[in-house]
Amino acid sequence: MIHHHPSDELLLAYAAGAADEALSLIVATHMSYCAICRLRGKKLDSLGGALLQELPPAPLGEGALDNVLALLDQVEPYERPRRAASRDGTPAPLRAYIGGDLSAVRWRKMGPRLSYAPLFRRGNVTARLLKGVPGADSGAHSHHGSEFTVVLQGGFTDVTGSYGPGDLQMMEDGMSHNVVADPGEDCINLAVTTGPLKFESLLQRIAAPLFGF
Ligand SMILES: [Zn+2]
Repeated sequence: MIHHHPSDELLLAYAAGAADEALSLIVATHMSYCAICRLRGKKLDSLGGALLQELPPAPLGEGALDNVLALLDQVEPYERPRRAASRDGTPAPLRAYIGGDLSAVRWRKMGPRLSYAPLFRRGNVTARLLKGVPGADSGAHSHHGSEFTVVLQGGFTDVTGSYGPGDLQMMEDGMSHNVVADPGEDCINLAVTTGPLKFESLLQRIAAPLFGF
């Protein structure tokens, strides 16, 4: 059960093709878990197309919006054709970056309880996988820029709530949190940051740049 979805703004940017590569990966990964957002995305996409194609350039007549909404009610949710099936349920958009399933990821240690695997960096934007054993915590930190996280396995809890597989968290510039992996299996997340993290502990402030955080 998914509890945390992308904002309308983020979904609209994705549906319009206006999201950058990293945010597209975040939304596409969430959507591979979330039938609700696949439908929302399709409707937003159709809304844009319908507005362009169906409506006169002159001021909208009475009922124009009703006409568009009626069109949307006829839209069937689109299921993207699946490529070679993942053996462990790794979302297809992510497999392209990993080069296979999550089980194939070569993790780099950041201490005894946390590991990471870089996916790509574009300017200030970084996409990476993070893994924590149950009970592991990220250390209290805030952000220069935003942080987008999609849970792939296990779950985590912080001051904003609890997140399980498919849930999407957005932390905005200046928001502070300490992420703790839930009990059970290892927590694996896809994380995109648009700027470096700001850790509160001195040790982490020194170590973070060494790991590219
Ligand atoms: Zn959703």
